Amino acid sequence: MKRTISLKLILSEESSEALLQTEKLFAEGCNVAAAYAQENRCWNRVALHNICYSKVREEIPQLGSQMVCNALRKVCSSYKVLKIRRNQEVPKITFKETSSIHYCARTFTLKGETLSLFSIHKRIKCSFQIGAHQKKYLEEGKIKEGELVRRGKRWFFHLVLDIPEMPLKKEGTFLGIDLGENNIAVTSNGTIYGGGKLRAERDRFLDRRRKLQSNGSKAAKRCLKRISGKESRRVKETNHRVSKALIEEAISCQTNVIALEDLKNIRKRIKGNKRMRTRLHRWPWRELQQFVEYKAEGQGIEVVYVRPEYSSLTCSQCRSLGIRKKHLFKCLSCGSYQHSDRNAAVNHCKLAESVVSARAPVNVPMVAANELATSSFL
Ligand SMILES: [Zn+2]
Repeated sequence: MKRTISLKLILSEESSEALLQTEKLFAEGCNVAAAYAQENRCWNRVALHNICYSKVREEIPQLGSQMVCNALRKVCSSYKVLKIRRNQEVPKITFKETSSIHYCARTFTLKGETLSLFSIHKRIKCSFQIGAHQKKYLEEGKIKEGELVRRGKRWFFHLVLDIPEMPLKKEGTFLGIDLGENNIAVTSNGTIYGGGKLRAERDRFLDRRRKLQSNGSKAAKRCLKRISGKESRRVKETNHRVSKALIEEAISCQTNVIALEDLKNIRKRIKGNKRMRTRLHRWPWRELQQFVEYKAEGQGIEVVYVRPEYSSLTCSQCRSLGIRKKHLFKCLSCGSYQHSDRNAAVNHCKLAESVVSARAPVNVPMVAANELATSSFL
């Protein structure tokens, strides 16, 4: 599996200056190549190489052959991301000086604690800072490629590693996770993640956004851009924190399968006022699921997606129907009282158990869902 780690570079002023100049020329190289890509509707690396490699070399000789190849690669991947259709006009992509520089394995080396990077003057050697967790990846992984990124005066090298797959654990317990609007996540053990304070914070952001959006002035737009960047960073950080805690819980109770709810299902069951709907739609659930997925993968834990119908209305104890009132679920048949999100998480868990034991298609409806269709309850 691929993992990217970030190295914070410690550079002398001279090296930093050399990289700044390299950054500038690399962007120029990309822009020259991008014009050919646009004109020829071509974002296949080999084909674009045939079209414009020598022309880019001629125009910017200091860039060197390998860096021109890296520039072409960057242009191709930038166009590929756009998924341009056949009848669609090809947009012009402009690479700014602050765009990152792609480094293939031939343009950098990492030995021990020294990173050596190509620059237009000479190779630069520098040391770097790295977190303990990332160090572990670096020791285990095989070095693939890198991306040099500048944030103001700080330089980072995002290194892509190929890490050996962790074999899936064959035995263990199941852990169901319910994602919802009241709490970010609740597990079948009953642990609640990210309710109150975080929700209040997100609501404040949404309020400010709405006011700024209706204002429409230039200053308001600038402010909007700033807070949305800030917001998405905060949300990402929270998703990282929550997913990490979820995996830690899974490890501590010897889990080998995590059950998550299919996203389409979450959106479908959104009810409530407009305020709640915006709140729910604005939370990047998919991001949280992806974080859980890749962190689970690293631990040999399988993630199973389930699509339970009426999971929040079915009793996890006896599978009868019940009533949900805010945080509480009451079963009409066995009379059990439970936290409603936990009840749903247990339902995901049980569904995943039956899915795994039968290895049937994942979209198995729950028994209660079928009963519901014929029930006079509704
Ligand atoms: Zn019950």
